[in-house]
Amino acid sequence: MDRTLQSQDRYFLPRQSFQSLIDQLALQGFSCVGPTMWDGAIIFDRLDTVSQLPQGVSDRQAPGYYRLESGGDSRWFSWANGPQALKPYLFPSREVLWEGTVDENGGLSFKERLTEPEPLAVLGVRACDLAALAIHDAHFLKGPSPDAHYARRREQLFIVAVDCSHPASTCFCVSTGDGPAATRGYDIALAELDEGFIIDAGSDRGKLILDQLPLSEVNEEQLDQTRSELDAAIAGQTRALPEGPLNRILFDNLDHPRWDDVAQRCLACGNCTSVCPTCFCASENEVPSLDGLSSEHSREWSSCFTQGHSYISGHAIRPDTRTRYRQWLTHKLGSWIDQYGRSGCVGCGRCIAWCPVGIDLTEEVGAICRESGDE
Ligand code: SF4
Ligand code: SF4
Repeated sequence: MDRTLQSQDRYFLPRQSFQSLIDQLALQGFSCVGPTMWDGAIIFDRLDTVSQLPQGVSDRQAPGYYRLESGGDSRWFSWANGPQALKPYLFPSREVLWEGTVDENGGLSFKERLTEPEPLAVLGVRACDLAALAIHDAHFLKGPSPDAHYARRREQLFIVAVDCSHPASTCFCVSTGDGPAATRGYDIALAELDEGFIIDAGSDRGKLILDQLPLSEVNEEQLDQTRSELDAAIAGQTRALPEGPLNRILFDNLDHPRWDDVAQRCLACGNCTSVCPTCFCASENEVPSLDGLSSEHSREWSSCFTQGHSYISGHAIRPDTRTRYRQWLTHKLGSWIDQYGRSGCVGCGRCIAWCPVGIDLTEEVGAICRESGDE
């Protein structure tokens, strides 16, 4: 049953006791990170006290636009999202996978560089980011070759999700079916009210933490309030992906003139793929030591917008911005469905807000659907 509709197993945590949640996570051995303000944006950073949370702050987002503003209330989560999701915590932008060394006889040996990640609790995870995490779990853990680096970090991850009551104008998680309420994949979920939080556990680890908190019964008025805030968050989303079989529509329109149109505007900077919580393309590189006796093999985030990412057998198979943007959209919204059973877009809107020229994928795919008679 939808957790937002039930009172069973949901409790109330007063705002003045919220610090006890952070303290309990620390007592259980977790390093805690949560939303903080840095350089004009909300980013995840180490969190020790509630005073670090962005109190009374909201975000204004639009194509190519992100600003923080005073929201005029006492809440800590009355914003939609910042440029980060969970991705950097589980799939770092650069990491060494293994190293090779030459011994005194000229023999080669190879050693895997597996880290021992510390238990990490991330507080303030949105529903769209939980959906992105499930996609990364499918990619990194459930394929024929599970990724040991990702798996180790994932085992140590504890998630405190917060329902999203203030979506930005760039959000469209309702149309992808991923938000705005957290429904699965969390250890603890929160719904914020002025006076505190409705809280529930989604795992045994979450229950252990809840047992240590000063909780009281939740009342019907509080539940009604969170439901009406969620209804308003749903009604407030103005963007959407077109309905319909996007994998078929996009692949039927590989020569659509809209690809030329968007290529005139796109800078091929790769910002959209960096902020996207589901993009996982990477390049692997050798970094030899200066004495030539060892070499590190690293994995770094890449992007379908780089020339190198399309370099195969001596030439770039996607030589221009048109083919690279088309690759991004046809994979993200099309062939991803064949690979992972769903689209690669969770509707977070980050690629729209953080695109320096304000390209909006909902408009691009909408135009292709409209002009080809599929909408
Ligand atoms: S494609 Fe854009 S809206 Fe969709 S998940 Fe990625 S960043 Fe978010
Ligand atoms: S769509 Fe925007 S963010 Fe993405 S590569 Fe083009 S200009 Fe950069």
